[in-house]
Amino acid sequence: MNLGHCRFCGTQLRYTFVDLGVSPLANSYLTTCQLQQEASLYPLHAYVCEHCFLVQLEEFASAECIFKHYAYFSSYSDTWLQHARSYADMVVERFGLDEHSQVIEIASNDGYLLQYFVAKGMHVLGIEPAANVAETALQKGIRTVVQFFGEAMARQLIANGAQADLLIGNNVLAHVPQLNDFVKGMKIVLRPRGVITLEFPHLMRLMAENQFDTIYHEHFSYFSLITVDKILTEHGLTVFDVEELSTHGGSLRIYARHAEDPSKPISRRVTELRAREESVGFACLAHYLSFADTVQETKRQILDFLVQVKQQGKSIVGYGAPAKGNALLNYCGIHPDTLSYTVDRSPHKQGRFLPGTHIPIYHPEHIRLTSPDYLLILPWNLKDEIMEQMAYIRQWGGQFVVFIPEVRSYS
Ligand SMILES: [Zn+2]
Repeated sequence: MNLGHCRFCGTQLRYTFVDLGVSPLANSYLTTCQLQQEASLYPLHAYVCEHCFLVQLEEFASAECIFKHYAYFSSYSDTWLQHARSYADMVVERFGLDEHSQVIEIASNDGYLLQYFVAKGMHVLGIEPAANVAETALQKGIRTVVQFFGEAMARQLIANGAQADLLIGNNVLAHVPQLNDFVKGMKIVLRPRGVITLEFPHLMRLMAENQFDTIYHEHFSYFSLITVDKILTEHGLTVFDVEELSTHGGSLRIYARHAEDPSKPISRRVTELRAREESVGFACLAHYLSFADTVQETKRQILDFLVQVKQQGKSIVGYGAPAKGNALLNYCGIHPDTLSYTVDRSPHKQGRFLPGTHIPIYHPEHIRLTSPDYLLILPWNLKDEIMEQMAYIRQWGGQFVVFIPEVRSYS
């Protein structure tokens, strides 16, 4: 077998983090006509680099193909908008930004975040590769360039006189295939005293909470603080602060500056989290290699549970059609003969089918009509909210189930 190389340090990848088999792209929901066509399957095999401990997938489906027509609009989520607004208030206050400041956001989506800086009278620039999403930002009057970010683009920005006092990258680092090119670009476009903030899912939480279903093709890399620090250091940047956030099942927000900038000392939170990661084992290969067993054991538990439900003649259906649900259902080989259907509030998904498993997606009202015995919550991060919304299934004795971190039902 032809082995790949680490996207950061170039070491040959020899160690499996977890192998989830082959799977179609998680966001490619199918129409009835498309059911007849064989969807492309790509390996979901995550490796860990023995040298820098970057956990990563190889790029089988190109980033162009995944992100050029991205269907996710950040502004549809109220909680995400709230998160964006309080971030903007905090960062302006903390770093004393004013109307002379230049704010640049990479993967600025529909302007969900930059709109709050515009409201404060600052200069903003969004960089967003998905033209359809960027169009929405432009309509809101948010300056946006439709392009992938990297060294070449950073040089172009500099040539046009744009340099960032604040450079933001939320949920983009994991999506970048050319990681070194991307970080090199950040170094170039940052003003001498500027600040970078990056948010990404925290590998420590992924492992501790068994969130293996967040491993799918859009996410090329999975970061601990230890590894992200190595990557930024290599490119002349220094992580000087870090926050742990509850978003996306547990994320980090890191603050970085030029290595040459003495004005921002490294906070205790950085040394404290590094020490915590080391004490769990994130600086040792063995820790990473233990994850695959946990995932396989979870798969056996899930299948056991489903066999029992079926043998008792009971029905189980899904709630939600998130990308992570697709990853889980494909890995476990769960089809409509087991999970008859799922529902989703998004009209763009209703009437379609989940990729790979061909489970139909209906309007949530379908649950009231069919009174299932079990409702499997696929977006486990929204479990409490969904259990509240769907509390009426208890009228007929229905129970809620989640599979992550382990099989658990709630009557
Ligand atoms: Zn490496």
